[in-house]
Amino acid sequence: MRIINLRNRLALDVSKNGHSIAVDVAKASGGRFGPDPQSVYAVWDEFADWAAALAPGEAVGEPFDATELGAPVPRPAQVFAIGLNYREHALEAGAGLPERPMVFTKFPAAITGPAGTVELPAGDNDWEIELVAVIGRRADRVPPEQAWSHIAGLTVGQDLSERRSQVGGPAPAQYSLAKSFRGFAPIGPAVVTPDEFTDPGDLALTCTLNGETVQEGRTGDMILGLAELVAHLSAVLPLLPGDLIFTGTPPGIGAARTPPRFLRAGDVLVSSIDGIGRMRHEFTDPTRDVTTDVAIKEHH
Ligand code: ZN
Repeated sequence: MRIINLRNRLALDVSKNGHSIAVDVAKASGGRFGPDPQSVYAVWDEFADWAAALAPGEAVGEPFDATELGAPVPRPAQVFAIGLNYREHALEAGAGLPERPMVFTKFPAAITGPAGTVELPAGDNDWEIELVAVIGRRADRVPPEQAWSHIAGLTVGQDLSERRSQVGGPAPAQYSLAKSFRGFAPIGPAVVTPDEFTDPGDLALTCTLNGETVQEGRTGDMILGLAELVAHLSAVLPLLPGDLIFTGTPPGIGAARTPPRFLRAGDVLVSSIDGIGRMRHEFTDPTRDVTTDVAIKEHH
């Protein structure tokens, strides 16, 4: 099953023979499920049963274009992101292999859809293609062997990052803020359920910048796989239906290049994962001056 956000309504992608076709869930279910794409995760089991029983031809489909898709999970309560989860990326970042996962958040208001433009704030803006997991069942102290039954599906994500404020320098490092500028958490084009993959634990990821491949990897190379990540995070706090986990990026980021390469206005970034699909974003200069340099005044 492929879940999409089409014109701000929950829909199923039932594309066939190269034709993009969507079924509107609220209409096809006679109102049993609402149109809000976020609402489905709170009733995930019921929804999955209904969608699995939807016979082909039973519901009326409508054609759509990829540019009409929004974020399939627009308002998660929590967004977890994992740093340094691929060996080669940990080495290119100049870090050792972490003994336990490095975890930060991308604030939910940074989420945007799989197509369109993203404003570049001042600084060094970089790309990180990542597999993103969507929680379907509340996960509280879940062991790794039960983790996959708590995952609704997988989608493509970009962990866009402003490196100057991320690593700090003279100022304190700001991982979460540096990765949460407007539009810095694009996801999509669809949430694909694990049963759609031969092996959901080993998917090919590719990121291209202006047509040139900058990142290639396989999720099977993650240091901690999704099952271990769900176990680790849910040992600390419950993961809620509709939450996201950005699982880390393979090597090939701009900051690790010689010389370093960062995003510029007019650049086109395409992020794809086999079996899920692709996102396409174009970058623009900020419409107003954006800075994280908020000076703290001395108190007298
Ligand atoms: Zn990342």
